[in-house]
Amino acid sequence: MPPRKTSRAACNVHCLGTGDGWPCADRNHSSYLYELAGTLLLIDCGESVTRSLTARKFDWNALDGIVLSHTHADHLGGLAMLLQGMWLEGRSRDLTIHLPGHVIKPLRNLLHHGYLFDELFGFQLKFQPLPVGKSFTVGKVRLTPHPTSHLDGFRRAFQKKYRVGFDAYCFVIEGAGKRVVHSADLGAPQDLLPVLTKPVDLLVCELAHFTPADLFATLGGHAIKQAAFIHLARNVRARLTSVKRMAARRLPDIPCRFPNDGDVLKF
Ligand SMILES: [Zn+2]
Ligand SMILES: [Zn+2]
Repeated sequence: MPPRKTSRAACNVHCLGTGDGWPCADRNHSSYLYELAGTLLLIDCGESVTRSLTARKFDWNALDGIVLSHTHADHLGGLAMLLQGMWLEGRSRDLTIHLPGHVIKPLRNLLHHGYLFDELFGFQLKFQPLPVGKSFTVGKVRLTPHPTSHLDGFRRAFQKKYRVGFDAYCFVIEGAGKRVVHSADLGAPQDLLPVLTKPVDLLVCELAHFTPADLFATLGGHAIKQAAFIHLARNVRARLTSVKRMAARRLPDIPCRFPNDGDVLKF
């Protein structure tokens, strides 16, 4: 359950939406509230992030920042309602959204066409493009975005016709002496290799765009204290019992979890 306030000692991930990109009756779309080093950080804003936070009597001023990994609807689709909620509930702390730079202008336009004008907010809303190859901070947490190949196929197929960006990122999240990797959406498990060269306290990794066997083969032998597999594709969920057995067999040194919405990962 997301806290009203966070403590310095807490190292938690509140899984607000563990669903993938397909419509789903029992999972929200991607949103994860990280509680680390006294900082509350939201990664991705899939539907129904506002409902998830409201149901838990969330303190709207407690959130230190928002990070968007890419602009697929299952990661972005709840953002406008979240901002409308912050306006109506009277958030007063300035807020920065860190996101792929190509979408800042159209997103601002969308918000204005949805009557979310800057003058309505009781806080300053800022947008910061995710820096490639550099770190940035949210509160006391340091994030380093790493490009993934998630949208490379779309880039090849559509970049000549549609002048949009095709950026997708995974993140190294560091604070309070912990190092977490959050995959968001990948193109292949190998996208993670550059961020697995140092020990990881928690890996939060999607399992929708490749087979469990491929992912587990890539993760094997890396220094990962615990792993949580999220964003499971329908066909993976349908055989979850056997996938869990495979994870235990192929990753004997890594405790593996398959969280549902509402679960809290401690690390
Ligand atoms: Zn996704
Ligand atoms: Zn995606």
